[in-house]
Amino acid sequence: MKIAFFDTKPYDVPSFDKFGAKKGISFKYFETKLNEDTVDLASGFDGVCAFVNDTVNDKVIDRLYELGVKVIALRCAGYNNVDVKHAFGKLHILRVPAYSPYAVAEHAMAMLLTSIRRIHKAYIRTRDFNFSLVGMTGFDLHGKTVGVIGTGRIGRVFIDICRGFGMNVLAYDKFHTQGLDNGDTVRYVELDELFEKSDMISLHCPLTEETYHIINDKTIEKCKKGVVIINTSRGALVDAEALLSGIKSRKVGAACLDVYEEESDFFFEDFSGHILEDDILARLISMPNVIVTSHQAFLTEEALSNIAETTVDNLIEFFEKEQCDNEICYRCGLECDCKGGKKCF
Ligand code: NAD
Repeated sequence: MKIAFFDTKPYDVPSFDKFGAKKGISFKYFETKLNEDTVDLASGFDGVCAFVNDTVNDKVIDRLYELGVKVIALRCAGYNNVDVKHAFGKLHILRVPAYSPYAVAEHAMAMLLTSIRRIHKAYIRTRDFNFSLVGMTGFDLHGKTVGVIGTGRIGRVFIDICRGFGMNVLAYDKFHTQGLDNGDTVRYVELDELFEKSDMISLHCPLTEETYHIINDKTIEKCKKGVVIINTSRGALVDAEALLSGIKSRKVGAACLDVYEEESDFFFEDFSGHILEDDILARLISMPNVIVTSHQAFLTEEALSNIAETTVDNLIEFFEKEQCDNEICYRCGLECDCKGGKKCF
């Protein structure tokens, strides 16, 4: 089985080679992202392996279909970059629903601690033998209230971590997890209450029409002065211009961003020595109270290994049974009985 692997980075190859070799899948690694200009590279392959910033729009899907490609194996959980509706009846879309919720939740907490304890500043200062503490005052997390939007796999791990710090949690989700709300230190609330009462807000919901710009001018207005926004989910959950205004007006105390709305133009690539064209991103990065990592939250050894193993298993299951439990089924939605694949396709 031959799979065209797009947007390859050096850290992808060892685990995909290892699990691919075990199961008889050969990956051809392309450094370029998948898009309308590069899609023809998939000619002669049985499937395509794509990542978060590959473009899987109607044109790419139609061309892959013409080329005889049968399946797109996403090596990620989110699929907002895939026109799932257009793919229906043409290409099967597989994904890795979970690989390490700990990786992302721990990164969210790492960013929060770095930000509020000024570790990013201290690192630079002490390297320059500047041991002054002026401007380094932080605050305790203990006793603070964190708002968590999205209480799925990652959100729940993040909540556990926050509870370890003695924080109170206000949670919001369209679907409540039974047993999570203890009526005391963890409570499900409506969004407005979450915005009004949280000292920091961490986003762990998917990007959908409903959640697009869930952090915007109006919701920032509802927040406490000095609120810290943490986004390790998807960039477009946050209206970056609104966030920048909130930071300039001092309403937002700090932002920790592992994702950015226009990240596909920049993230995962080296732009040092270039003039950054995106004024909003450049201005955000210039702020002392903004920390940006480039969609790095997933990047642990454990997650990379799980991603490769599940992607390979998905492909094997799909080609052996013509269906796969981790298929995204447009008609039925993710939780349908058909488990994706043949019945509904
Ligand atoms: P999950 O499916 O387990 O949980 C998502 C939760 O969001 C669910 O409980 C769902 O009910 C909830 N949700 C759906 N619509 C909502 C809405 N309108 N408002 C509030 N909640 C809503 O997913 P997960 O594994 O916890 O991942 C969460 C997100 O993290 C993913 O969607 C992905 O975008 C992001 N992610 C980022 C990285 C990274 O490296 N930065 C890695 C993996 C995942």
